[in-house]
Amino acid sequence: IAPPSPVALDDRFARELPELALPWRAEPAPDPRLLVLDESLAAELGLDPAWLRGTDGVRFLVGDLVPDGATPVAQAYAGHQFGGYSPRLGDGRALLLGELTADGQLRDLHLKGSGRTPFARGGDGLAAVGPMLREYVLSQAMHALGIPTTRALAVVATGRPVRRETLLPGAVLARVASSHLRVGSFQYARATGDADLLRRLADHAIARHHPAAAAAEQPYLALFEGVAAAQASLVARWMTVGFVHGVMNTDNMTISGETIDYGPCAFVDAYDADAVYSSIDSGGRYRYRNQPLAAEWNLARFAETLLPLISDDQDRAVALAVESLRTFRPAYDAAWSAGMRAKLGLPEGLADDVAAPLVDDLLAQLQLGHVDLTSFFRALGRAARGEAEPARNLVLDLAAFDGWLQRWLALEPDAAAMDRVNPVYIPRNHLVEEALDAATGGDLGPLGRLLDAVTAPYDERPGLERYAAPAPADFGAYRTYC
Ligand code: AMP
Ligand code: MG
Ligand code: MG
Repeated sequence: IAPPSPVALDDRFARELPELALPWRAEPAPDPRLLVLDESLAAELGLDPAWLRGTDGVRFLVGDLVPDGATPVAQAYAGHQFGGYSPRLGDGRALLLGELTADGQLRDLHLKGSGRTPFARGGDGLAAVGPMLREYVLSQAMHALGIPTTRALAVVATGRPVRRETLLPGAVLARVASSHLRVGSFQYARATGDADLLRRLADHAIARHHPAAAAAEQPYLALFEGVAAAQASLVARWMTVGFVHGVMNTDNMTISGETIDYGPCAFVDAYDADAVYSSIDSGGRYRYRNQPLAAEWNLARFAETLLPLISDDQDRAVALAVESLRTFRPAYDAAWSAGMRAKLGLPEGLADDVAAPLVDDLLAQLQLGHVDLTSFFRALGRAARGEAEPARNLVLDLAAFDGWLQRWLALEPDAAAMDRVNPVYIPRNHLVEEALDAATGGDLGPLGRLLDAVTAPYDERPGLERYAAPAPADFGAYRTYC
């Protein structure tokens, strides 16, 4: 008999929304071995890192040891994938173990790669070490950048091989989120035709993410506007750091406003408004500059699901929803401009007809010169201190850039403020690949060093120069796979 686990997991989602929760168990892992653990996140959640590292803790992290009272479930959801509707997606290879309460906040503990579920369709239910460590690194980096995201708690190698193009070592990712409610969860609930289920889901979402909406005159419109505001701010943050999500399907858009599903995502290196990395995004639907449009499109799908809750008169419901949807663009524009102004260290209250063309002209120059986005903005901080050469060395049209520099320097940009928002270290594509290749081969050293760099992204440190440098020319065009 195993000693009692020191973890108390709630099953609030499963209790309140049983129609969306299919009780299920993880496939046992033959030889589980912990690869990485975020000890500070564990502590934040009230979990004992020493216990998690032990035999029982590792069994817990792959779903093998289920604490008393917990009800692991596969969550049902639907979704538009690249614009086409799939009525039944759901956790095909994932499980919600339950919820933890930390700082009075409910947090989901969720596993990915834990075996087939009834939602698996043709999939094997498994995940390979490389992609799970990829989610670990990318989500750690996003959190350190201050961008809302699901959090990676641990990756455990299962000892079970996974068949992809070749045989790869298998792994389970344990992740934490303020919830796993998605636009696709609402699409699924709406499609059942069960108005009571839809209302319970919306009330659950309000309680967990937008509690102020409960007191609004129109709680479900207020929920919608809360989600639209959270997504506007999130996508603006992605844009300012050059993050390309890659698969912004409605099942990959959260109600919480956290980034979810690190599949084919990547950070742009050479600035390109049309950057697309995902091997399956052949039409470029989710290219870098389309992300705000994709978010708005997804929000329109979300609004559609809420219509029965908004008014008994569906014409009126549509009119109100359209009005609420119109809040997204100005919210996004405001968040993005504020982000760009901060990156440029511009003074508070600078008129928009000065700031906006300054930003637009600069981005046009970065596009023209294929300038490395992250290096450039950090170098610009030095230019604000009177050392223009590092930035000048990165651009193509020097005369145009010098003209721009004069206009910008005349505004007396705040260099220290710039260094607080322009990262030195992002998970650069070539470094991520290097770390994952080494880890797949059993060497966790490069992964650890990359994590050290990207988890303190604004803090420039000696010895980490290669983590701040663009990819070598022979790295070539980057392609990502789900
Ligand atoms: P994604 O594109 O990652 O958002 O996943 C879309 C859907 O495919 C979700 O329902 C996943 O659970 C499912 N899925 C992805 N990979 C697998 C797999 N290896 N086995 C079973 N289901 C999977
Ligand atoms: Mg997904
Ligand atoms: Mg995925």
